[in-house]
Amino acid sequence: MTRFPRVPILALVCVLTTGACGRTLSPSAFPHKLVVLGFDGLDPTLTRRWMDEGKLPNMARLAARGSFTALETSHSPESPTAWASFATGVNAGKHNIYDFLVRDTRTYVPDLGMVRREPPRFLLNYIPIAKPRILSIRGGTSFWVSAGRAGVRSSVLTVPVTFPPEEVPNGELLSGLPLPDIRGTMGTFSYFASDLSRYEEGNTEFGGILRRLVFEGDTARAELVGPPNPIVRARQREIRSKGTLNDADRAALAELEAQEDISLPFTVRWDRSARRATIEIQGSTIQLGEKQWSKWLLLDFRANLLIRLHGMAQMYLIAAGNDLQLYVSPINWRPDAPPVPMSFPASFAADLYKTQGIYRTLGWAEATWPLNEGRLDEKAFMDDLYRAFDDRAGVILNRLNGGQWDLLVGVIESTDRVQHMMWRLLDPGHPMYDAALAREFGDSIERVYRRCDQFVGEVLDHLDPGTPVMIVSDHGFHSFRYAVNLNTWLVQEGFMTLHGQQPGEKKLDDLFGGGEFWENVDWSRTRAYAMGLGQIYFNLRGREAQGIVDPGDEYRRLAEELSSRLLTMTDPETGQRIVRAAYKRDDIYSGPYLGNASDLQVGLEEGYRVSWQTTLGGTPAGIVYPNMKKWSGDHGAYDYQATAGVLISSRKLGTDRPRIIDIAPTVLTYFGLRIPADLDGKALF
Ligand SMILES: [Zn+2]
Repeated sequence: MTRFPRVPILALVCVLTTGACGRTLSPSAFPHKLVVLGFDGLDPTLTRRWMDEGKLPNMARLAARGSFTALETSHSPESPTAWASFATGVNAGKHNIYDFLVRDTRTYVPDLGMVRREPPRFLLNYIPIAKPRILSIRGGTSFWVSAGRAGVRSSVLTVPVTFPPEEVPNGELLSGLPLPDIRGTMGTFSYFASDLSRYEEGNTEFGGILRRLVFEGDTARAELVGPPNPIVRARQREIRSKGTLNDADRAALAELEAQEDISLPFTVRWDRSARRATIEIQGSTIQLGEKQWSKWLLLDFRANLLIRLHGMAQMYLIAAGNDLQLYVSPINWRPDAPPVPMSFPASFAADLYKTQGIYRTLGWAEATWPLNEGRLDEKAFMDDLYRAFDDRAGVILNRLNGGQWDLLVGVIESTDRVQHMMWRLLDPGHPMYDAALAREFGDSIERVYRRCDQFVGEVLDHLDPGTPVMIVSDHGFHSFRYAVNLNTWLVQEGFMTLHGQQPGEKKLDDLFGGGEFWENVDWSRTRAYAMGLGQIYFNLRGREAQGIVDPGDEYRRLAEELSSRLLTMTDPETGQRIVRAAYKRDDIYSGPYLGNASDLQVGLEEGYRVSWQTTLGGTPAGIVYPNMKKWSGDHGAYDYQATAGVLISSRKLGTDRPRIIDIAPTVLTYFGLRIPADLDGKALF
């Protein structure tokens, strides 16, 4: 996360990798172009319905020329897994992205998947001598890399699982998920309010930083929490690595803790009668009325004279009447000054910024967490979501018009976010259905689908009619009415054993803060444990540190026993079956990364999703409880067979049952290239 003196580093990179910085592309050897547009989570049932009702005319036109089908998703039906299968044409056993979490088999502790981080190093606690490194754990070869090696020029834009950016021969790539915010998280928002109680202050379940504003007269002073201070973090790691700490070490750690983050002081002046506020931060003055968004503010965070980190954020004045409430978006990396490259070539993100202006860079670009935590309302969430959509669409149109490419691949994820948050207003059976809200916002998902259709129209307008277009989504959607505590069920059924008291609730923040996990699990008497979205792992001897299940016969017997027992799980309230399918590892995965796969992948019935506590390994009381969060639609942990995405192709397909792993070989075949033997997919045309 460290910002290094920019010019020398870039110059060095240019010297070392000759040619990578100049983007002089050779003229294409390929007479025809191809466009692949992705909309994350576009659901086949909703798409079909609104196409039939005439609400998606451009998609309908494309489908009439070629085809509209469901697109089989991956195991598990989650975006990181499915988009990795999209890119590589293989199952997760060959690309290694199984879920948004990975576990450490020595400690059983979950960590965010997709990337591995190596922190920066400093000389004399001051001078940066080694850059931070972020490495992808994805295996396989993406089709833009294979095609690029053969001379196909590509433009790859905000596809999930493209951070850190790959080197694309003859191409350009702008990273998407999991590109983090300046704190290294999926999106930490800040919320400042005069009516926040002492109890509410702190960090919320999904990464929000809540601070109370104390006004003296009309003025309050506060601090916007920015990135962790890389030097302080390096000193903390150094002290902790000693193992046994003496009093001086503990005192030093306590002192460092207060300086962990680089914060920016700011003041808020409140004009109560006009319901307005004036915010001063880093020499800028921002005037906002109630319900007004600021423009993007460029912010500099200084760790010392040599290290500065650059970010940008938007403010939103929620209220300024009886109380004052101010929201600050996650601090995005600046496209022209990221702490580590966010594009290939590294200059591409900055070039886009020059031609198109500011665009949000955070992989998870929509404000789902603040809506879920009740800090933003539906109107603010949707207004922001449309702008997130427009930013991504703007980048794609920019390259569509300005780029020299044979293959263009662009993905927009706002479709996924709106369905996660607003499904409750489509589903009168959802515990969070609200008829009054539904009257106002019940069409939010439809409106975003229509925006997609309008965007497809804009893309088609810019292409010559002979250029094939494929519209792809990675999975569909379900209602998340009830949460299921899988680990609690494992305890009840005797597959997992606890000792002592029920531990505290797990927070997503624990993933970043090294929180306690599994503290009351008796591993010597635990055969299986659940983590992530529907993954069940066996406590396997030789793999898990305290494994008790023998590989071989015992493993196979446990897989049989547990997978059939899971199918008997019922909702204690209604008697309704909860598990639709349980898939055994060796039936669904193959490849060099099989060792990282879960031993069972559970596919739940419509309406049921694993609880948030299950994803982090928690064991709260009870098996099923109503989902009272606004995060109300989902796809992870559902049965993949009922969670297909969409494929709309301007070309007719050779099959009516396409799979997401078929897209990569289809693209390679289109450009006349050989399909590598280890690909699992087949060309569709
Ligand atoms: Zn999703």
